[in-house]
Amino acid sequence: LLDGQAVDDHQITVCVRKRPPSRKEVNRKEVDVISVPRKDLMIVHEPRTKVDLTKFLEHHKFRFDYAFNEMCDNAMVYKYTAKPLVKTIFEGGMATCFAYGQTGSGKTHTMGGEFTGKIQDCKNGIYAMAAKDVFATLNTPRYRTMNLVVSASFFEIYSGKVFDLLADKQKLRVLEDGNQQVQVVGLTEKVVDSVEEVLKIIQLGNAARTSGQTSANANSSRSHAVFQIVLRPMGTTKIHGKFSFIDLAGNERGVDTSSADRQTRMEGAEINKSLLALKECIRALGKQSAHLPFRVSKLTQVLRDSFIGREEQDLHDSHDIAVQQFLIRSNTLRYADRVKEL
Ligand code: ADP
Ligand code: MG
Repeated sequence: LLDGQAVDDHQITVCVRKRPPSRKEVNRKEVDVISVPRKDLMIVHEPRTKVDLTKFLEHHKFRFDYAFNEMCDNAMVYKYTAKPLVKTIFEGGMATCFAYGQTGSGKTHTMGGEFTGKIQDCKNGIYAMAAKDVFATLNTPRYRTMNLVVSASFFEIYSGKVFDLLADKQKLRVLEDGNQQVQVVGLTEKVVDSVEEVLKIIQLGNAARTSGQTSANANSSRSHAVFQIVLRPMGTTKIHGKFSFIDLAGNERGVDTSSADRQTRMEGAEINKSLLALKECIRALGKQSAHLPFRVSKLTQVLRDSFIGREEQDLHDSHDIAVQQFLIRSNTLRYADRVKEL
């Protein structure tokens, strides 16, 4: 989670979720090697030999802001991750929530809920729960008078190209102007007035995302899905706040760059490149460096404004480099430092 608004403290929360074993894993009598003994600790019990899984275990402890065990549901995960950031976008900030993990680890389940083709089923995902809170917040006395308009967009980044999930996967161009403002040209942004309308968008986008797939998850696991909720003051094009949710491509170990199939190889290389660029950009937030390597991948390029945060972007526009560097230096939290092996 990235909260781009808190300029003097780029708050990053890193959580981990353990999913229950699948039926297949149970049938194969696979051994559960993950335990969550504390709400901020996950232990991987790694067998030293493949022969006897019960002996010679090595225990690797990892600490997180929150570690969710297999009993936790999406509502619980949402409460401790994305929920607090709804206020951030109303206060004029940029918030970002990434789901990172191997294919089959539960990223889409967590972000989008279950996609069975029925609208009700995506209600339990983080996208929908956040949308619900956005409308609830919009109607509170504090924000009602701001007359904010809510809109939503949903796109996919596949092999370094952007496709609009709300417009038949139309390929879109990404442009960067002289002020380094990035724009996805022609991206569908639907104005929404209720959670139900957002649910329809999630459903529509996901149907587009998974259409034309041969085997379950084959393509969607190789693309990044970006769902965004944008707030604008009525009658303006200016962004007041933005919440981005990214269901990242599967980070399977050594994404197959040695495959005989050229297409598969290219996809794998592109995924590796974008996940690495993402890590570098998040890392750079905590460093003095004023240079953030956004342009290395489409993913980081289109998310540029969310990394920079509004205040810094305004400073960037005024070319006040000294102040800008000071602000960046004060962003002490670094992604890599948050997930440490103890
Ligand atoms: P990913 O998007 O990371 O590839 P999915 O979200 O598609 O993974 O999850 C793979 C399968 O596991 C799906 O059938 C999904 O419903 C199931 N699953 C994932 N997480 C959970 C969970 N916490 N509880 C129950 N089922 C889950
Ligand atoms: Mg998925």
